[in-house]
Amino acid sequence: MPMKKLFAQRKFYKNNHIEITLTNACNVMCSYCPQSNYIKSYKNLGKPSWLPVSSARLMTVENFQRVLVGIDHAVERIFFTGFTEPLANPNWYECVSLAIEKGYQVFLNTTLIGARAIDIDNLLSLKIPLRIHLTDSKKVVADGIYERIAKEYRGDVKFDYFTETGRLLFPQANGNAGEINSRSDNVSFAPSIKLRGPVFCKEFRQYSNVVLPDGNVAVCCSDFSLSHIIGNIYQNSLREIHESDKLNIFINQMLSDESSFCNNCEYAAEIPTDTKGQLLGLAKLAYRRIKQ
Ligand code: SF4
Repeated sequence: MPMKKLFAQRKFYKNNHIEITLTNACNVMCSYCPQSNYIKSYKNLGKPSWLPVSSARLMTVENFQRVLVGIDHAVERIFFTGFTEPLANPNWYECVSLAIEKGYQVFLNTTLIGARAIDIDNLLSLKIPLRIHLTDSKKVVADGIYERIAKEYRGDVKFDYFTETGRLLFPQANGNAGEINSRSDNVSFAPSIKLRGPVFCKEFRQYSNVVLPDGNVAVCCSDFSLSHIIGNIYQNSLREIHESDKLNIFINQMLSDESSFCNNCEYAAEIPTDTKGQLLGLAKLAYRRIKQ
């Protein structure tokens, strides 16, 4: 779609989603995941003084209810994925059920690593779109689990993989063979992307944020290093966060001549220089409109 048309449409904002990270760390350790960046950065953020220690480690059901109150603004879809394996949090099923009850379109991505029998039963009771990530982790899923999910799951289920090791775990995989990307330079061995000048996010993901167990909100799924925390959903609504100076600064950096976080991201595109003035104006206008 031509960029001019893209910025003229309003639906880019309406199409945003939110991702929920249910734990402070993931022990699946796929070789291509910048998990150590997340673990270190989450620790460095420090626990908000008003939050009990246990709920900084794992999202509690009570805190997820606060998330649902906080995101009550232009979010139609909730992805249980974020930066870690959702099934590692024993509250995952209750959180997913609450989101479904509230009428959200809910999606779940899991490796199934560490899933208990009760988790598999709970999974099989759902009908939401399910993505099984066939990982190259050293940890394994019990025999027959992939086959059982493929056979018994009543909703849409796909098995995705990034590596041959992953594909071989379940050769009947029907999902995508994904490409490993640098996640805005968080994955050191993946090819680095270097865009020049002002850029924009092709999927407007600056509005599709990632909520962490402590309520902090990372700007998007590329921010494994948590270098752009734009607010805390336990203290501010998503509307307030989207109108905050922090997000405005992030967007202004993206649209500036200076290189920004987005200049290294596969979701970004350069704004061509010949029409820069015009498209930049349109982009700024489009971003301003969301506040109306
Ligand atoms: S371009 Fe990349 S880093 Fe920037 S907001 Fe979009 S997804 Fe995030």
